[in-house]
Amino acid sequence: MADLIIKNGLVYDPLNNIDGEKKDIHIKDGKVVEKVNGDAKVIDASGMIIMPGGVDIHSHIAGAKVNVGRALRPEDKPPEFNEKRTKLTRAGSGFSVPSTWATGYRYAKLGYTTVVEPAMPLLEARHTHEEFLEMPIIDKAAMPIYGNNWFVLKYVRDNEIDKLAAYVNWILKATKGFAIKIVNPGGVENWAWGKNCESLDDHVFHFEVTPREIIEGLAKANELLELPHTIHVHGNNLGHPGNYSHSIETFKVTEKITPKKGRKSNFHFTHCQFNAYAGTNWGNFGSGAAEVAKYVNSHDHITLDMGQVVFTKYATTTMTADGPWEFALHHLGGMSNWGNKPGVKWINGQVEGESGSGIVPYFFSPKVAVNAIQWAIGLELMLLIKNPFQIFMTTDHPNGGPFTCYPQVIRWLMDKKSRDDVLTNVCSAKASSQTQLKDIDRELTLNEIAIISRAGTAKCLGMTDRGHLGKGAIGDVAIYKIDPNNYDGHSIEKAFSSTAYTIKDGQIVVKDGEITASPINKTLVSKGKIKESVYNAVLDDVRGHWRDHYSINFNNYAIGDHYTPKIKVINA
Ligand SMILES: [Zn+2]
Repeated sequence: MADLIIKNGLVYDPLNNIDGEKKDIHIKDGKVVEKVNGDAKVIDASGMIIMPGGVDIHSHIAGAKVNVGRALRPEDKPPEFNEKRTKLTRAGSGFSVPSTWATGYRYAKLGYTTVVEPAMPLLEARHTHEEFLEMPIIDKAAMPIYGNNWFVLKYVRDNEIDKLAAYVNWILKATKGFAIKIVNPGGVENWAWGKNCESLDDHVFHFEVTPREIIEGLAKANELLELPHTIHVHGNNLGHPGNYSHSIETFKVTEKITPKKGRKSNFHFTHCQFNAYAGTNWGNFGSGAAEVAKYVNSHDHITLDMGQVVFTKYATTTMTADGPWEFALHHLGGMSNWGNKPGVKWINGQVEGESGSGIVPYFFSPKVAVNAIQWAIGLELMLLIKNPFQIFMTTDHPNGGPFTCYPQVIRWLMDKKSRDDVLTNVCSAKASSQTQLKDIDRELTLNEIAIISRAGTAKCLGMTDRGHLGKGAIGDVAIYKIDPNNYDGHSIEKAFSSTAYTIKDGQIVVKDGEITASPINKTLVSKGKIKESVYNAVLDDVRGHWRDHYSINFNNYAIGDHYTPKIKVINA
């Protein structure tokens, strides 16, 4: 692979305090270096901006529920999303749940080079990694789901945090996972009995633990292991009116837990828009974003991502391990108008003693008051939280809409005129009366966009090798055609829709919006620090209880190394 010099572009590299400076970037053997000596390919980036490759902290791209989503939605294949095979690329299709190859190409064209799949049921790890092996260009990581796992519930109940940490570490190894994901703690286990958890102190049947204890226990285990990322939490009561106060109570659970050295945060609360609702019912539904932002602005142990809702021509596909929520949404489907008979399609899944899941197609309409308010709340959260290193851009793909809508989200964040236009001319009037969005003047800068889409997410994930362009960083670069001194809503959306160049590990993979190379890249994992004696004792314990928990043999549980031919331990 030729060495590269990118010349004449304006560089946005927030982690190195570079904010739109003209600066050359040199890449040798796939890594950023001070200077390439000798022959190198030169890219002239005149009139363009340069950012590190995008890092998506939360996007459902692979695994069993994603694939079931594809099967459930044969109609999710509008012709404009069919991609023909070329000499370099495979055919692909799908709007809200694209096929694996298309997922990699579409991310690369947006300038993203790393994507985290945030919900891997342990027993479905094989499937997740099989799809990763057919997802080109981007590096991938997956978060195993712990929050309703019987071993976790048992160690939390017995307050054995060191054993819990050892179990977490074994699962990371067995499933080739990256971080601790918690979905509706306790609520998904209770859902197996037709119930849920609605407060932090509700009890989980048969285990007598509470959501508060599950979050606290796993956060302590996370810091004991010194994992690169924090716990990554989908809260209780997602989607329900009035849930913002529960979210703030949830943030408080880890206030006193000391994060590992070098990290201020100990808690990532994901797709916060779905958990920032005021009101007591769908009739007086409103925004709790200002209250959530007020808390986050005065506490540095919390990070969030948006879970922005977007309005699209076609229905999206909601999918989550939060089985009880999907059941509720299935019944709420009547308020949507997604074309086919609303609310009819629904799938619920249970993953032995580990997790659940559900899938429901959904159409977000700006004319439906609740949907319009949801759209405004996501933007409010991003614009009211002062530190962009505490909130990141996501649509919780495909839940709030597909990741291919990011350029539109960037447009709304950078250009008040564009978002006001949607608010006043497209949305139900309730979006203006039930939120503060119309009064917010803030417009994000290009530097802030670089933080919410790569620098901040990489930092939050503890991936120190990316999200920046300093010496030693991997050679992941996105180059966009935009003039930082002269842009409007249209030019912002156009620039971020398709890179002039995307470079992955020093290789040009996209040029002028066309794929130029399609390698299968790395799977990113992490490893915790734990005493070997504790680890071995826990493995014995797990083996001893195995038959009470599983229909499969212990020896068939961990997945083989051939599932990750290119693996990188991110905190090695
Ligand atoms: Zn999600």
